[in-house]
Amino acid sequence: MDVSRLLDQLNDKQREAVAAPNANMLVLAGAGSGKTRVLVHRIAWMMEVEAIAPFSILAVTFTNKAAREMRGRVEHLMKAPMNSMWIGTFHGLAHRLLRLHYEDAGLPQNFSILDSDDQYRLIKRLLKAMNLDEKHWPAKQIQWFINGNKDEGLRAAHVETHNDPTQQKMKEIYAAYEQTCKRSGLVDFAELLLLAFEILRDNESLRHHYQKRFRAVLVDEFQDTNNIQYAWLKLLKSPENSMMIVGDDDQSIYGWRGANVENISHFLKDFPSSITIRLEQNYRSTSNILQAANAVIANNQGRLGKDLWTEGAEGKKIALYAGFNEMDEARFIVSRIKQFFDDGAALKDCAILYRNNAQSRVLEEALLHEGLAYRIYGGLRFFERQEIKDALAYMRLINNVIDDAAFERVVNTPTRGMGEKTLANIRSHAREHELSMWDASQTMLSAKLLSGRAANALQSFIDLIKKLTEKVAPLPLEKKADDIIKGSGLYAMYQAEKGEKAQARVENLQELVTACKQFEAPEDAEEMTPMAAFLAHASLEAGDAQADADQDAVQMMTIHTAKGLEFPLVVLAGVEEGMFPSNMSNDEPGRLEEERRLAYVGMTRAMQQLVITYAETRRLYGQDKYHTASRFIREIPTEYIEEIRLRSQVSQPVHNRFSAASSHEAFVDSGFTLGQRVAHKKFGEGTVLNYEGAGDHGRVQVNFDDFGSKWLVLAYAKLQKV
Ligand code: ATP
Ligand code: MG
Repeated sequence: MDVSRLLDQLNDKQREAVAAPNANMLVLAGAGSGKTRVLVHRIAWMMEVEAIAPFSILAVTFTNKAAREMRGRVEHLMKAPMNSMWIGTFHGLAHRLLRLHYEDAGLPQNFSILDSDDQYRLIKRLLKAMNLDEKHWPAKQIQWFINGNKDEGLRAAHVETHNDPTQQKMKEIYAAYEQTCKRSGLVDFAELLLLAFEILRDNESLRHHYQKRFRAVLVDEFQDTNNIQYAWLKLLKSPENSMMIVGDDDQSIYGWRGANVENISHFLKDFPSSITIRLEQNYRSTSNILQAANAVIANNQGRLGKDLWTEGAEGKKIALYAGFNEMDEARFIVSRIKQFFDDGAALKDCAILYRNNAQSRVLEEALLHEGLAYRIYGGLRFFERQEIKDALAYMRLINNVIDDAAFERVVNTPTRGMGEKTLANIRSHAREHELSMWDASQTMLSAKLLSGRAANALQSFIDLIKKLTEKVAPLPLEKKADDIIKGSGLYAMYQAEKGEKAQARVENLQELVTACKQFEAPEDAEEMTPMAAFLAHASLEAGDAQADADQDAVQMMTIHTAKGLEFPLVVLAGVEEGMFPSNMSNDEPGRLEEERRLAYVGMTRAMQQLVITYAETRRLYGQDKYHTASRFIREIPTEYIEEIRLRSQVSQPVHNRFSAASSHEAFVDSGFTLGQRVAHKKFGEGTVLNYEGAGDHGRVQVNFDDFGSKWLVLAYAKLQKV
């Protein structure tokens, strides 16, 4: 047996982890030290040397993309397909388990998955049905409450309210929500995890079956597991099998969503015989980048402590650019990417990472302006778009008529003259008799409980769904989708709308048919119909895989989404106080440290070049905010930084509003420049932010230190340079 290929490209410590006897193990190590590589090689090692069947291995990662990559790498090492191996995200694996054991979980076979937006809408409707004012009971807050409790393993019945009336009400809403979901065969993301946990906890023979089956359980990015995920993993553990967890406490960035970094110490306590292996050599980044990242994270307290070094070259210094405003910042970023591209890199070697999805728009405009292709991960993804969700709701209803969320979404889309009152009637009938909306509609129609117009509208909807169900039954998936989109009237509805947006919607609907055509059900979907498999894929992957992954394009995503990935060039954009760390992190202890870990994650994605930018003024919620560099920038020793100063070129912002040359020249003629300090008789000192128009109409925007930002007519303002 030649196992050298499994060990050759590893250092001693990595080898030790890969070839350790079949024991419980923690690999604790900093970014880029080869944790994920070790995990992949360990899987191959276990199959090859310990003769463990692929069928007996379960590996969990954080994103679908990472799961696909991991499967690919194992297959590459083993030179064989690994279909029977369970590799996926916690949600994906929980879904797989629930599909196989839906009866144990008390679910209908064709249960539907609610994504976060579906869940939000469902809660909104529920609040209405319960006559609760959303001003006092914001749906978002309820959603947070429900998911938070589920993540702790708590059903409504178990929530402790301490006689607090608010908590009691929330608990009541949670209970009503549970009932609605149960009645309609709906499972939200948190529920996937909770149910997967409960069926193993409550069913001993099932638990033993899986404990015996999975001889090795491996978890990447363990620092971001939450309590229910860890509890689920523990149910899979027996004295006979082994668990390997891989992680980095410095990269724990989902505390705000219930992740619990203490799970690392819980693991060591729960499995005291575990071996701990630390990896200290970083293979990803240049030494400048690594030292800078190490210096930033050193400001956190209570770390498990790791030394990270590299044999790599010193590399370029970190380029730091202070944009005058967000447009200028974007323009600089694009110029840097172009430079990197001209030097021979591919566009997909470049990543722009930001704190919030909302930051992408200005960056997109700048990329478009220069004609550079880009691809956004996360944000509003394909399957989350309005028209796609409409079409999917029709498909869901045809797949599972009791899916109330889908019913509500399309019963009056396109409009069929169904009033809100009729719907409210159906809702309360459904609740009273514990029926789905679909069944409630039928009984109300046969008992003639609805008035003529409403009854007709409802009847035509029911007939439509029945007709479509029958018609598409024998067709292949893409024909089904096509018939449903057209037969439902959705296509015609969006076609009749005017404007570019509607046109894009029609194209997206066509794209959905293409997506169905290209869809290959995963190997583990054998027991699902193609349509059910497609619907599950749409909810769980939300279309990240949809866009052409091979296309050469600049990669854009939040830092959270970039976890585990690496790119030759990384730009961290918007690194300003108030944005990153976010304002919110001032309120809660521990949040600032989590923001700092996020900065560490962001910086350590870079292999060769790291660029950090911020904007001194930024338009947020319609107001110009004056920002200073983030403390995280100040925490980087200056020796690793090269400040880029291009101030003289800055007076050519990329925004269209400024492209009129006359206005620009008039402004230059006026003797002022953007970013310049000026004084006004009444308002005192401030900084020039913007200008528009020319001659007598020329106006300038100044951010006054004491009065905030104001637009002034240049001819009257009598501004003095200071
Ligand atoms: P993160 O904490 O960001 O998830 P990680 O610890 O999982 O990082 P990997 O992604 O596994 O690190 O490895 C980082 C990079 O270093 C990858 O490009 C990987 O191929 C490379 N690498 C890892 N180990 C070695 C090695 N022994 N020799 C050469 N390259 C290596
Ligand atoms: Mg990794």
